[in-house]
Amino acid sequence: MPKDQRIYWNPLLETLPREKLRALQTKKFRRILDWAYSNSPFYRNFYKEAGLEPGDIKTFEDIRKVPKMEKGMMREVQQKDPFPYGDMIAVPIEKVTAFRQTSGTTGTPVYQACTWDDWEWWAETWCYILYAQGYRESDRVFLPFGYNIFVAFWAAHYGAERLGCEVIPGGALNTEARILRMKDLKCTAFMATPTYILGMAETAKNKLGLDPARDLDIAMITSAGEPGGCIPATKKRMEEAWGAKVYDHIGLTEVGSWSYECTEQPGGQHVLEAYFLVEIEDLETGEIIEKPGRNGKMIITSFDRLAKPSIRFDTKDVIRWAEYDCPCGRTFRLIDGGIVGRADDITKVKGVLLAPTAIEAVVRSIPELGPEFEVIVSKKGELDDILLRVEIMPGKEGEEQSILSHLKDQLRVRTNLGYRVEVHPYGSLPRYEVKAKRFKDIRKKET
Ligand SMILES: [Zn+2]
Repeated sequence: MPKDQRIYWNPLLETLPREKLRALQTKKFRRILDWAYSNSPFYRNFYKEAGLEPGDIKTFEDIRKVPKMEKGMMREVQQKDPFPYGDMIAVPIEKVTAFRQTSGTTGTPVYQACTWDDWEWWAETWCYILYAQGYRESDRVFLPFGYNIFVAFWAAHYGAERLGCEVIPGGALNTEARILRMKDLKCTAFMATPTYILGMAETAKNKLGLDPARDLDIAMITSAGEPGGCIPATKKRMEEAWGAKVYDHIGLTEVGSWSYECTEQPGGQHVLEAYFLVEIEDLETGEIIEKPGRNGKMIITSFDRLAKPSIRFDTKDVIRWAEYDCPCGRTFRLIDGGIVGRADDITKVKGVLLAPTAIEAVVRSIPELGPEFEVIVSKKGELDDILLRVEIMPGKEGEEQSILSHLKDQLRVRTNLGYRVEVHPYGSLPRYEVKAKRFKDIRKKET
């Protein structure tokens, strides 16, 4: 069968029966554990202190005995020898070919060392993602991405090339120029954050007089870097604006490109289980959750990342297994609806647990509201106050009262909280290209 007509990037691995997948994961886990223990002083000390030796891990269940590691540990070792990564790395420093770092959204950036083999691995994992989303050799893919110190779409770029697509790096261009290049070159796909996917559509309409759904040839968009791609209301907005299918991808700089939505869009993302082990840990009891539908914290292991191994990395991201299978036939397990929230971000406001993604889901589901919004949680005296800033779409200003009352009702239903809502002129709230900072909790600073 010609390559273009295959359904899977790797038909063998992507349809492996569960027991075989488990056996493969156990084997690969033991291999990376042994690698880290033998080659990384940090990991060797870490496990010795816990009284663990690689030989202790014999079965899949044994994996739970391995202590979890956290981002803070990565920060602690960096700046030390071998500079600048510290002794977590498991290869001689001469073998490192690429430096990247995390975006620093949750504190000091964490440095990432990669060897050339690691880059080939990043690219290969992206092939699974893109192939499952319909990318083929005939596609011309634009990357409206500021090629920079962040790993983000660098790996996607190499992955798309490895798959056989034609890749256009749209780095040092402004938004208008990027849109025009995509149009002129008849690009069929691009990849960006949900915020930027919506922002580009607005720029096309308002500054260039173009309707992306009608005037460009984009058939698919890979959304990554923020949760929007797995929030149905945000996804719908993106798909309508571009007249294209939008597929979500979730990755982690410290770990790798571990999940993807396929063309069947079952409501969740496949975990790339041949390359990663995802475990979900109950937030209160710490037990590993195997059953679908229950939220917990994601603990993830990258099986094949050699320079800087990530073994049982505590992501603090809250996810749950899906209760459904995917019609695409992949046996890789699905997580339901993407990342539900951050164990850190989910915060108590007025005594109620609030996940910022819930506010986004409401705002983006109301078509009369603009795509941008801001949430500021502060203290008014002893009481928590939530201010939500929104924009009303041009031409809908006359309906402000009914739009706002609908918004407040929906917010109350979805989050059990009341909000002060401020309307700002359309286009006046900040637009972001990378990680949006729409949720601000300033209570701690004030006290
Ligand atoms: Zn699928």
